[in-house]
Amino acid sequence: MRQAVMYAPGDVRVEQRDKPTLQHPTDAIIKVSAACVCGSDLWPYRGIQKVDEPTPMGHEYVGIVEEVGTEVTTIRPGQFVVGSFMASDNTCEICLDGYQSRCIHVEPVGAGGAQAEYLRVPLADGTLVATPSLPDEDLIPSLLAASDVLGTGWFGAVAAEVGPGKTVVVVGDGAVGLLAVLAAKQLGAERIIAMSRHADRQKLALEYGATDIVTERGDEGVAKIKEMTGGYGAHSVIEAVGTQESMMQAIRCTRPGGHVGYVGVAHEVELPGLELFFAEVHLLGGPAPVRRFLPELIDLILRREIDPGKVFDLELSLDDAAQGYTAMDERRAVKALLRP
Ligand SMILES: [Zn+2]
Repeated sequence: MRQAVMYAPGDVRVEQRDKPTLQHPTDAIIKVSAACVCGSDLWPYRGIQKVDEPTPMGHEYVGIVEEVGTEVTTIRPGQFVVGSFMASDNTCEICLDGYQSRCIHVEPVGAGGAQAEYLRVPLADGTLVATPSLPDEDLIPSLLAASDVLGTGWFGAVAAEVGPGKTVVVVGDGAVGLLAVLAAKQLGAERIIAMSRHADRQKLALEYGATDIVTERGDEGVAKIKEMTGGYGAHSVIEAVGTQESMMQAIRCTRPGGHVGYVGVAHEVELPGLELFFAEVHLLGGPAPVRRFLPELIDLILRREIDPGKVFDLELSLDDAAQGYTAMDERRAVKALLRP
């Protein structure tokens, strides 16, 4: 089969590799309908994260089940499925508490690389959610978004305790930040302030429900948020970048007693203890337990109440995966969808 493999920073190739096979009786093999390039794939692409050996890429996927192991009971061949980027049993105590991304049996689905024609999904019964029937073709980008970026933005909003009457700030205007705006709107936020400096992304943020745009960042951005909130800061702040600057911006935009949901993968972020002590804010973040939200998100998409697929502003054949990385790296695209 064809698969995208990263050899080194800036070097992604699509090559012939062995099709995955069932390794455990709880596995499923799916034929990938669509995959995509994640903002987190850009960390190794930019050389910020090491690439030690040729690495199969991609952890976001939707597809048709081709084969299941002998212990898989709920997922069947022929079903269209959406799954999280983290495989989980969905039965342990952590899963039952809604933190499937930290299941005691967790496995990264992306280890096999979803930017490929086929993918092995571990713990298929716990990880995958099947749609009631084959979805309309035009819904595939939105269902694909549910497998990571939408689920992650949604978790950011839930972790930040977004709700009716709340003022929400979203730090980061990548696909996750934009979908955090969508989530905040769905969860009933009164005011949603998107921090963005890119005109095309501001436009989508407004379409998704942002009420205000702030272009300042760092200390100036924090001052602007304070000014807009009567000096208080926001109730709920979603951090969707993962840098020292974005994390501090998020914490400083939050009022005492408020909540920060941080979902940007942290890279060399160190929090100053004394400032954190006196900030007196709630912090919850981590790899999003997408599985918790999948049934609800899939339902909203199938009923066409949300359109998260709009974050894909570039669609390519899997063979052209390298172009997707380049376009996202150069910020010519928010997110690239790949069709095997
Ligand atoms: Zn579990």
